[in-house]
Amino acid sequence: MLHTLFISDLHLSEETPHLRKRFLEFLAGPCREAEALYILGDLFETWVGDDDLPSPFNRKIVEALRALTASGTALFLMHGNRDFLLGQDFAAACGATLLPDPTEIVLYGVRTVLTHGDQLCTDDAEYQAYRKQVRSAAWQRQVLALPLEARHKMAREATAMSHKAKQSKTMEIMDVAPQAVTDLLRKYEYPRLIHGHTHRPARHVYRLDDQFCERWVLQDWNAQRAGALRCDSEGCRFVPL
Ligand code: MN
Repeated sequence: MLHTLFISDLHLSEETPHLRKRFLEFLAGPCREAEALYILGDLFETWVGDDDLPSPFNRKIVEALRALTASGTALFLMHGNRDFLLGQDFAAACGATLLPDPTEIVLYGVRTVLTHGDQLCTDDAEYQAYRKQVRSAAWQRQVLALPLEARHKMAREATAMSHKAKQSKTMEIMDVAPQAVTDLLRKYEYPRLIHGHTHRPARHVYRLDDQFCERWVLQDWNAQRAGALRCDSEGCRFVPL
């Protein structure tokens, strides 16, 4: 049956080689049956710029993504809050299309809005201010002009700071804000919504202005679990890997 797969939040890094192995098996296995694979952000724990493509760790991933697209599965990528510096060179090397966040698609007849999800965490004012800064073209130009090693150092510091910040934030603050979700659902006229980021996989159902909406939250990948959301003309369901 024609179907499409969605994943996010793999947070691949050299520190977790088992996750990369799992991902490569996924790309060479179940993915080949799908029409398309959407990676909705945070494929990488950090991405410091497309000039880091040749590192042995990254090259193996790019080659596997390229093999997937060469086999006929379309590949779409969205930025996450960690790998927002993924650029056109990376996409081209993989044969992928970079999508703006959010993006609306029609998925087997159902209007579906795709987003990483961090923009929905509007209660976290500190994070939203940080996001605004690092997503600005001026900031990115400045940072990308730094030597690769300096950017790796910055990324390590940013990761450490983010882990520290998380410890002092409540679970509610780090989840999507209900108002941000309903605003988005209204703006797009009650679509199905698919996002990642919060690492709280679930299917939420809303009755909003007498309209029925679904919100699917993708799961992160870690040592214990990995999985995808599979959608076809009958609907969506989680598939563990
Ligand atoms: Mn994220």
